[in-house]
Order: sequence, then structure tokens, then C-alpha cells
Amino acid sequence: MAEPCRLKPVAPRGRCAKRRRVCIGLTPPRGWLGVSWPKEQGGTGWTPQQRYIFDYELDQAGAATIIPMGVIYIGPILCAFGTPEQQREWLPAILESRSFWAQGYSEPGAGSDLAGLGLRAERDGDHYILNGTKIWTSGAHWADWIFCLARTSKEARKQDGISMICADLRSAGVTAYPIPRPCQSKCTA
Ligand SMILES: Cc1cc2nc3c(=O)[nH]c(=O)nc-3n(C[C@H](O)[C@H](O)[C@H](O)COP(=O)(O)OP(=O)(O)OC[C@H]3O[C@@H](n4cnc5c(N)ncnc54)[C@H](O)[C@@H]3O)c2cc1C
Repeated sequence: MAEPCRLKPVAPRGRCAKRRRVCIGLTPPRGWLGVSWPKEQGGTGWTPQQRYIFDYELDQAGAATIIPMGVIYIGPILCAFGTPEQQREWLPAILESRSFWAQGYSEPGAGSDLAGLGLRAERDGDHYILNGTKIWTSGAHWADWIFCLARTSKEARKQDGISMICADLRSAGVTAYPIPRPCQSKCTA
């Protein structure tokens, strides 16, 4: 890696709350948050090998785990397949941590077998109306956007007719309920 690593752990290794650490260097000018993003989208343009080395160094430095939903999951998909309008609106906000995303795949009746998912998306002019429930949606209570899998065809076999839809979690009709964790009283990670 050409540049020296300037990550400094500010807390010792440990569990739950102790795992929260501050990283120095994960700032937009370096593109270190968008390690799997192309340079023209504000990322590093690194190869998988370079990303592996970076992840290894982060771990060695005891750095905080990066919340993956925006920068690791949906970001690279938007870089590759998003429209210019979507890229302009969403990518800088993700890299600058101005907007947070959640992943909406699992449902009460569809976990490992996503073909069982029941969230319906019905076309309504320029938009879709979503009807259904997601579960285990990490960070849904503070996320701004969600990328979710929804059924867009009634005719297709259950493994087909599924689309990824990006939805504003502040839209009317969206409600997030917390699922308490056993360590919730002590854990802030
Ligand atoms: C901490 C945490 C955070 C999560 N965050 C998110 C999130 O942000 N967004 C999201 O969409 N999901 C999230 N999930 C959900 C997760 O990724 C899985 O999709 C979900 O937990 C699996 O569904 P389920 O609980 O209904 O289990 P099931 O799918 O019912 O599986 C139950 C058990 O059966 C086994 N099993 C299932 N199918 C088969 C098979 N065909 N053959 C053999 N064994 C099988 C499974 O391995 C498992 O042991 C999260 C889960 C955890 C634990």
C-alpha cells in the first residue's frame, strides 16, 4: 500500500461497547471508505488484493468495523448500475456519511429462502408502492434509505419476478420496530 497507515485505535480490544473505536484517515479525500468503489466515484479503485491488505491492517489496528450497508453493499452496486441521477444523489452522501442505508432482504416468512419473500412492489406512475414487512433489518431505526428485495411480478415463479428497490425510510407508512438484544443494556456497538 503506497500511503502509510494512520489508523489509531482509541480503545483496547474487547466486546460490545469496547469494540467502538475511532479511525483516523477514513475521510472522503482519501477515498478510504469507498475501498471497493472506482476512483471516479470517489473511491480508491483498489484491486481485491489491496482491499484485503487494507482490511487486514484495519483489523490489526483495532479499528471499528465499517457499517457495510452503504459503502460496501449498495454503494458498489450503484456505482456499476445506478443511473447518473441516482449516483449524483446517493453516492456522495454515502461516502460523506450524510446518509445511512439499511438492507431489507429477510422477512418473517423468508430468511435463508428469499424466494419466499412477500413484500410487494406495485407500479404507481413514476414510483412503486411497497406493501409488506421486513425483519432483522439492522439499523432500520436510524437509516435514511433502504435497499430491499420486493416482488414486482405476480405471474413469475417464486424464484423470479424479484427486484431490488431503493426506498426512503421517511416515506409515509414506514414503521420500524426494535428487536431488543440480550446485551442491549450494556452494548452500544
Ligand atoms: C445480527 C444479524 C443482523 C442481520 N441483519 C440483517 C439485515 O440488516 N437485513 C436483512 O435482510 N437480514 C438481516 N439478518 C438476517 C440474516 O442475514 C438471515 O437472512 C436470517 O437470519 C435467516 O433467516 P431466518 O432467521 O428466518 O432463519 P431460517 O431461514 O428459517 O433458517 C433457520 C435455520 O435453518 C437452516 N436452513 C435454512 N434453510 C435450509 C436448507 N435449505 N437446508 C438446510 N438448512 C437450512 C438455517 O441455516 C438456519 O440454521 C441479520 C441476522 C443477524 C443474526
